[in-house]
Amino acid sequence: QNVLMWFRTDLRMDDNRALSAATALARTVGKSVLAVYVISPQDHRMHDDAPIKVQFRLRNLEMLREKLDKELNVPLAVLTVERRKEIPMRLLEFAKNWEVSHLFWNVEYEVDESRRDASITELFTHHRLSTRPHHDQCIVQPGHILTKGLTPYTVFTPFKASWLNHLETQKSPTTPGSLALLDQAPTPTSNPSTARNAHASLFTDPAFAIPASLPSLPLPAHQKNLIQTLYPPGEPAAHARLTAFLTTKIASYHLARDQPAKDGCSALSPYLAAGVISARQCLRAARRANGGKLRTGKEGVVGWVSELAWRDFYRHVLFHFPRVCMGRAFKQETEKVEWAEDPRGVKFKAWCEGKTGFPIVDAGMRQMKEIGWMHNRVRMCAAMFLSKDLLLDWRMGEKFFMQHLIDGDFASNNGGWQWAASTGTDAQPYFRVFNPHLQSERFDSEGEYVRRWIPELKEVRVPAVHDPSGALVKEEFEKLGYAYPIVDHKQARERALAAYKKALAK
Ligand code: FAD
Repeated sequence: QNVLMWFRTDLRMDDNRALSAATALARTVGKSVLAVYVISPQDHRMHDDAPIKVQFRLRNLEMLREKLDKELNVPLAVLTVERRKEIPMRLLEFAKNWEVSHLFWNVEYEVDESRRDASITELFTHHRLSTRPHHDQCIVQPGHILTKGLTPYTVFTPFKASWLNHLETQKSPTTPGSLALLDQAPTPTSNPSTARNAHASLFTDPAFAIPASLPSLPLPAHQKNLIQTLYPPGEPAAHARLTAFLTTKIASYHLARDQPAKDGCSALSPYLAAGVISARQCLRAARRANGGKLRTGKEGVVGWVSELAWRDFYRHVLFHFPRVCMGRAFKQETEKVEWAEDPRGVKFKAWCEGKTGFPIVDAGMRQMKEIGWMHNRVRMCAAMFLSKDLLLDWRMGEKFFMQHLIDGDFASNNGGWQWAASTGTDAQPYFRVFNPHLQSERFDSEGEYVRRWIPELKEVRVPAVHDPSGALVKEEFEKLGYAYPIVDHKQARERALAAYKKALAK
């Protein structure tokens, strides 16, 4: 009999709790570990996964497969299951064919995934097979930190204080005398070499091979080589990126992180979203680089730790308030906002294409469509512009981001969108409306980022590049080939404030 490890958004061998537990059990009872990954094209479509994100997963899967084979003698089989409803039965079939007694996985907290796991547990239990879920996605497990009144945190700052406190005081459940934070998953143990013969066909059968791509999610031609050039797959590449960031960039992270023209952040998000590196690994490394401290010491490290806390925060929010997974606003009273009409979707289209006439917004949208990634400051500007200046339903923007981001991650994307649209956990009320011209002036003072992504503005200098309509007449826009602003920011702001005020008064 065998133990089966089901990989999902945890495409790594190191610091992987379910994998460590699976190999430990197998060793104790003298079984072998087999691994499986399930591709459901329908699932990808229903969750709006970007082709570049799926492609990145497939390439990482190849690296993982090689590593598992070489270092652990563990075969990784890939099952392509068109409809997600069929996943439980296909897994059961696989488990029966390969004499599996236990199925291990790391928990995914989204509603569809939780329901899928519940039906698998039911099915396996019915067939007297055991399922073993592990919590691995967050630094602090959802549900483990609550307010004094035992309610979930709904505001980031107190959440972070409690999160840090937990990390600094919580004793490790598995390593006596150490802190939970240091609790790295034990190194997985290898299958005996005889497993190779016993499961030879799993290693070689083309039926279990990793597809080169998914026909239903074709990669746009301009993105064909991006993964090799910008996001090399595999754990070593992720760790090299982390090390480079910690040695060269983190010291000035707090100064550079908001400047999209600077290469000041880690760009680890594609790896974190696919689980090629764990958030715990990132935190441990940052803590080491800061003499063991999280709250004090190097400002850059303290700032970066905060971002990792944001990642946990949005996962905790999703865990406690599953309505955010079902297209609902976190602040339910904001459901009543009356979104503006957009005949024929003209405004939305301009936003999607990066042709709104607001350079910082357009540059971000073009960056995302070109390379599948957008700088955080610009994500905020683009999201705020759609939901406030255009007064369009934030869910349209959330979906469009997911369809294009290599790091598309439900919790962070939804959290970021709801924050920008003031329907989420932002402690500030709805009247936070970014002025896109001032954002550009402040965070891209030389206009370098804007000019990089908007070739039409290549020759336009500061300050005109931040707000071309303030400096150029309409005819000059035509000459440049750049869009004239599709709204007047001042009026749009007033309109948004009135719409939110009206909704909240209802
Ligand atoms: P760094 O600055 O180096 O931060 C390190 C890590 O911390 C990131 O990789 C990420 O995992 C986490 N992190 C940083 N900022 C945030 C944040 N605000 N919220 C949650 N986690 C954070 N991030 C995603 O990973 N996937 C998304 O789909 C996503 N969508 C977003 C949508 C909007 C509207 C907004 C405002 C933000 C979104 N973010 C998303 C958060 C953030 O923009 C990205 O995580 C960040 O830009 C990734 O770059 P980095 O890896 O260089 O980050």
